[in-house]
Amino acid sequence: MITSTMITSTIRDHITVLHSDELPAYLYDLSALRKYAAAVRAALPAEVELYYAAKANPESGILAALSTVVTGYEVSSGGELTHVRKAVPGAPLAFGGPGKTSDEITLAVEGGVERIHVESEHELRLLAARATRPMDVLLRVNLPLDAGTLHAVPLAMGGRPTPFGIDPARIDACLALLAGPECRRLRLRGIHAHLASGLDAAAQLTVAQRIVDWTMHLARRHRIRLDEVNVGGGMAVDYADPAARFDWTAFGAGLARILDRHPGLRLRIEPGRALTAYCGWYATEVLDVKRSHGEEFAILRGGTHHLRTPAARGHDQPFTVLPVDAWPHPWPRPAATADAITLAGQLCTPKDILARRVPAPASGLRAGDRVAFAMAGAYAWNISHHSFLMHPRPGTHLLS
Ligand SMILES: *Cc1c(COP(=O)(O)O)cnc(C)c1O
Repeated sequence: MITSTMITSTIRDHITVLHSDELPAYLYDLSALRKYAAAVRAALPAEVELYYAAKANPESGILAALSTVVTGYEVSSGGELTHVRKAVPGAPLAFGGPGKTSDEITLAVEGGVERIHVESEHELRLLAARATRPMDVLLRVNLPLDAGTLHAVPLAMGGRPTPFGIDPARIDACLALLAGPECRRLRLRGIHAHLASGLDAAAQLTVAQRIVDWTMHLARRHRIRLDEVNVGGGMAVDYADPAARFDWTAFGAGLARILDRHPGLRLRIEPGRALTAYCGWYATEVLDVKRSHGEEFAILRGGTHHLRTPAARGHDQPFTVLPVDAWPHPWPRPAATADAITLAGQLCTPKDILARRVPAPASGLRAGDRVAFAMAGAYAWNISHHSFLMHPRPGTHLLS
């Protein structure tokens, strides 16, 4: 399983020709990304708007590769806003995230973002005070999730006490504020909710349905129009099975049923991880192999300060070994012989583990062999603590 990472020939060939001092490196297969994103788009009803959550991977080449497929981009900071504007000029932007500063709100107003996801009453007031033009607003709501759904997710942004969004009990106060003169430039379009990350298609649909129902009920209760619902991202990515994919076909069919029940509804999703995780690879080489108290360790060039994903989530990052037969030294080559091996990085901390006690690859693992970690296209380089130990930064290779 761990070795079946479906490495593309583009990636394999490129890693093979890289010089040793060009490792570690990040490689992105942009044609695979475009193909996958197009398949995702095709599985969704035409009316559903697909936004890409830029924080999953804001690499300019990735943003650009997605531009023909996505409706727009979701950004969560002033920095992302400025960066995405430059990378994909003219693309519609939705600006979300808790704790927006006054400067960021001004940037959103002046930078022409299409939608702003408001996370509190204070933020609503800040926006109202700075809105020099009409601003289209979604209120981000922290709706309750049932215990079963909450239990199943690796990351919950809602459904329980969190810093995200507005408590449903405060929504009436927000609507009252929006109806007043203070907010005359704000146009409430609908509701946004991003409640959990790691839901499969059936669970996503249950959550989406609940958000839509809640929104419609709110609209009826207040006799207002709420035409838009953004049901967030969080589509599951299974790092234990690189061949598995979120069931976009079932998800698309379910969204179509929601749309059938609510004609005219503008339904939006904003996945990040599930779009880009599969297109990225972190390639490196084995520096040393050693046995320690009965267990075997391969020490790799680089580590979790470049690819924090396995440390952050507590999983084994799937990988493929690309054997290198040349061995330049006159002494014996360190090589793994045990059934299980731990892949560690160069950091001076026991937490620097990329894969723990995983089955040794059939091809073996020797110093000098190359290792390509799969599923490194989302929340990988950009969430890592690069400066720790001051190793050279990995190169970035955008392959099309
Ligand atoms: C992070 C985030 C997303 C994307 O989540 P994924 O798990 O990467 O799909 C979408 N919306 C909001 C508000 C987010 O914070």
